Amino acid sequence: MLTVGRFAPSPTGPLHFGSLVAAIASYLAARQVGGKWLLRIEDLDKPREQAGAADSIIQTLQAFGFEWDAEILYQSQRLAAYHEALAHLKPHTYPCYCSRKDIQQHGHMGEYGLIYPGTCRNRQQTPSTQQHSIRLRTHDKPVCFTDAVRGEYCQQLESELGDFVILRADGFFAYQLAVVVDDEFQGVNQIVRGADLLDNTPRQLYLQQLLAFRQPVYAHVPLVLNAQGQKLSKQNLAPAITAEHRIRTLLAAMRFLGQTCPTTNSFATLTEFWDWAIANWDMSKVPRIHAQAFTDDDIAT
Ligand code: GLU
Repeated sequence: MLTVGRFAPSPTGPLHFGSLVAAIASYLAARQVGGKWLLRIEDLDKPREQAGAADSIIQTLQAFGFEWDAEILYQSQRLAAYHEALAHLKPHTYPCYCSRKDIQQHGHMGEYGLIYPGTCRNRQQTPSTQQHSIRLRTHDKPVCFTDAVRGEYCQQLESELGDFVILRADGFFAYQLAVVVDDEFQGVNQIVRGADLLDNTPRQLYLQQLLAFRQPVYAHVPLVLNAQGQKLSKQNLAPAITAEHRIRTLLAAMRFLGQTCPTTNSFATLTEFWDWAIANWDMSKVPRIHAQAFTDDDIAT
């Protein structure tokens, strides 16, 4: 079966070293087995979007020599597909009128955040124009998968997270729904991404089951932390990667991913780097940890 991988950045800021690491890992895992690799811009969360970020991410990927196999898919163009999925899920969903404050008052904190206490689940629903989200009913049968880096991982959705939102009260589709619909639509069967999404995966598997979609294989690679131990993000002003020292930066990302690398001087061109990287990629060497710190000095070596 042809492997289809993908990189699916949200355009909330320029590409930083952490997202480069996820892009490389997904690219190499697909290319090494002669698979396809797709690029999808997850531009659904308009309030978090930064103007120009999508183009800047695309240009940086191009400058680093990534090649994708089809037209870039923009989630903002896919609303009809999400509506269709929502209609299929209708028997398992209900409107939720709870405010954040209500949930804070009645729900308790779990390992993954506030657990929705099911307040609106059995409420007599009178059609209302009041603003509401749509939640998906969950159960407690463990949802498990084997991650290529992290091993066996299970969650009991109902008691660990509670019924979760698939359409937000502000009218935007939730990431969980959109990601599952688009991976199926694009034929993605291999998902390699940052470990911050590991605990989202069981919700996505559950959605795939309800929608009778195929289940991809997963690998969650460690997150890059800054010297203060924070995940790199726009909020903590992670520096954008620049087209300067491209091979050195790519090799630093490979080392971060546990790969044994030759020196920067061994490669005269980006093509030489990618040929070597595709031939030598070894997922079994990626550290099984959730996150590790990384500083600019690591790129300089
Ligand atoms: N758009 C998500 C992000 O940038 C990634 C989605 C995914 O890889 O499933 O964090």
